[in-house]
Formats: sequence, structure tokens, C-alpha cells
Amino acid sequence: MTDCIFCKIIRGELGAEFVHQDEDIVAFRDIQPQAPTHVLVVSRKHIPTIMDCELPENMELLNKMLAVCRMIAKREMIHEKGFRLVINTGVEGGQLVKHLHIHLLGGREMGWPPG
Ligand code: 5GP
Ligand code: ZN
Repeated sequence: MTDCIFCKIIRGELGAEFVHQDEDIVAFRDIQPQAPTHVLVVSRKHIPTIMDCELPENMELLNKMLAVCRMIAKREMIHEKGFRLVINTGVEGGQLVKHLHIHLLGGREMGWPPG
């Protein structure tokens, strides 16, 4: 996807502070952090939303994204106190970037319900 912001970051056309990169998954810090740790975990493959994850190969990527979340949570030392994973989906879900991503938020106490 040529005009997708996250695809541009993955291709190196836009800067980002990467915290993880492997052959399938990348993770970088959110440009507008909402918590001391706010990392976006993203598949290199352009999958628009979680509703496109019915294909087994996309489910496999989602599983890898979750494993990267666990790894980064440990590295950021937020795994014991806890953290939040968010997948905004569609208009009412507040998804602004149409490339599937998991928000990993931690380092402060989270409120509920979300806005
Ligand atoms: P969404 O609302 O789609 O779930 O979240 C998109 C996230 O991407 C937002 O938290 C926003 O701050 C972040 N974001 C948007 N553009 C950029 C960018 O160019 N670089 C980085 N690092 N994050 C971005
Ligand atoms: Zn994309």
C-alpha cells in the first residue's frame, strides 16, 4: 500500500523509533504517546483490520504480534504491574490508520471505561 503511513514506516520512508524488527513484525513508539510505554506492534504485511484475519496466514501473523507484545512488555518492565493491549477497529472503534496494529500501553494505571 503506497499511501499507508505504517507501510511507509516499514519501508523506511518515514522515521520511527523502532523497538523490534523481524521478518514478519515490527514495533515502534507511537508519535503521540498516551502512556510512558506506548508501542505500536504491526505486521509488515498490510492487513487493514482484525476483520481481515480470517485467513490462517493472517491469524498466524496476529499470533506473532501478540508474542512481540509479550516480549516488549517484559523488556519495558511493565509485565508484572500490568499493561493494556488495544486494537482499534473501524470508524466507531477509533481506528485512524487502516493497517492492523496493536497498541501496547503501560507504565501507568489505566482507566476504565475507555473514551
Ligand atoms: P489508531 O487510532 O489507528 O488505532 O492508532 C494510530 C496510532 O498511530 C495513533 O496512536 C497515532 O498517534 C499513531 N501514529 C500516527 N501517525 C504516526 C507516525 O507517523 N509515526 C508514529 N510513530 N505513530 C503514528
Ligand atoms: Zn500499510
